[in-house]
Amino acid sequence: MNVLLEAQKHRLNTPIMFFNQYLVKNGCQTPPRHQLDIILLPFPAPGHMIPLLNIARLLASRNVKVTIITTPVNASSFTNAIETNHKTGNQHINLEIFKFPAQEAGLPEGCENADIAIKLGLSHKFMQSTQLLSEQLEQFLDKVRPDCLVADMFFPWTSETANKFNVPRVVFHGISYFALCAQEVIRIYKPFENLASDDETFSIPLIPHEIKLFRSQVHPDLICNKEDAFRKIFDHQIKKSEDESYGVIVNSFYELEPDYAEFFNKEQGRKAWHVGPVSLCNRSIEEKAQRGKEASNKESECLTWLDSKKPASVVYICFGSVAPFITPQQHEISMALESSGKYFIWVVRSDENDEEWLPPGFEQRTQGKGLIIRGWAPQVLILEHKAIGAFVTHCGWNSTLEGITAGVPMMTWPIFAEQFYNEKLVTDILKTGVSVGVKKWSISPSTEDLISREAIETALRKITEGDEAEEMKQRAKQLKDMAWKAVAERGSSYSGLTAFIDDLRDYRTQNRA
Ligand code: UDP
Repeated sequence: MNVLLEAQKHRLNTPIMFFNQYLVKNGCQTPPRHQLDIILLPFPAPGHMIPLLNIARLLASRNVKVTIITTPVNASSFTNAIETNHKTGNQHINLEIFKFPAQEAGLPEGCENADIAIKLGLSHKFMQSTQLLSEQLEQFLDKVRPDCLVADMFFPWTSETANKFNVPRVVFHGISYFALCAQEVIRIYKPFENLASDDETFSIPLIPHEIKLFRSQVHPDLICNKEDAFRKIFDHQIKKSEDESYGVIVNSFYELEPDYAEFFNKEQGRKAWHVGPVSLCNRSIEEKAQRGKEASNKESECLTWLDSKKPASVVYICFGSVAPFITPQQHEISMALESSGKYFIWVVRSDENDEEWLPPGFEQRTQGKGLIIRGWAPQVLILEHKAIGAFVTHCGWNSTLEGITAGVPMMTWPIFAEQFYNEKLVTDILKTGVSVGVKKWSISPSTEDLISREAIETALRKITEGDEAEEMKQRAKQLKDMAWKAVAERGSSYSGLTAFIDDLRDYRTQNRA
């Protein structure tokens, strides 16, 4: 029998479907397909938990059983979204709660998330504390024997734990291909070493584009030669553990940074699957509003306010979940907004709005012009609104991708982590953004490094007015279309996820027969 012809005759999608039906009709059972079982271990910080929850939802939509490991304080960031997923009839995501070893690590009770630890100046201790989860993970892996452990890059110790149980460990970085490549070549070649002063720039070696950075924009522990710098040791562990891992999942799409997807694969020689932008799996308003924390202003309030504004007339300003800002810098931003006359939504974290964070009378003077969100914003919903014309972002990778998928030009204001690389991707490679001109990587901002109101207003105008702004807008719209195509059936990221799942099935067949 020609299975292909018969399948076409019966209008069945694939010969396999036809073959299965043929077996059933003739009394033969098709072998039941094993449901893959994947454990996800997100690093406890909003910018790491949000994308991994999205990855969980993507995997569950492909009939994979997923268990997300978290701790008591962080559980609420997952529960609503999981319940919503369950309501759709998909029961494949479960939550497993580990005790957080705060006391053992010398952290205050309840300090279970990086955003709290950074606020308290305890980030190093916090990073170390997560290693104390290893015993609980060992017991869990031993009990469940999953098909894969997807663990955040900040859990380098998990490669060894997973190896003990012959479970492939896959790394989730949560950053772009470009940043992965740039930081690796900078780490190896130290191209900043022969600069005469901090006012000179260096070019990132080997990569396909000519990209220049100031030495002060690179992570300080890569620059200094202190061998015992915590971060240096930690980065070494991350690198080693990545080398020992089974592969890497990247929240990006091929068409966004093809040169760097190729560069990463060639230079690093490691399996990598791009499956993003993963935030596009949130389709309903409920799903989009349930990301991370509970929104401080009702999403309906934000949307009604935006509905009253003209298309592309509002600037959205948000610096993510952890980047610190000081009052004098907030004043410069507010002055720039006021003198630019632009409509705006400005998100300020609740711990940053002490009484004096705004200049006197600012809110009265800008009434009707601006909406201030104190706390957590429903970012994806806001960015996707047609009234949004530009995004002022700290270039966290999730926010950058969300700006790209919303098709809006960006004013880039990197602070620390790998954000300076993301800025370069946006301003120099994609050419959909304008830099406000931050020159220094810093986790603790000081008045010496303030960005002036004039610089902010100039960048705001560049991104929203004139021919150059229009060209950026057109390019941004093209990228948005590409992003949606990538996640649609047979798109590059859709296929990336398929390849990941197929690879794990093969691994299972070969190793667990
Ligand atoms: N986010 C949000 N509302 C806020 C602040 C942040 O929804 O008020 C989300 C944002 O959409 C993104 C994530 O939190 O998905 C922040 O991740 P990103 O990588 O941009 O920055 P980080 O917070 O890790 O610095």
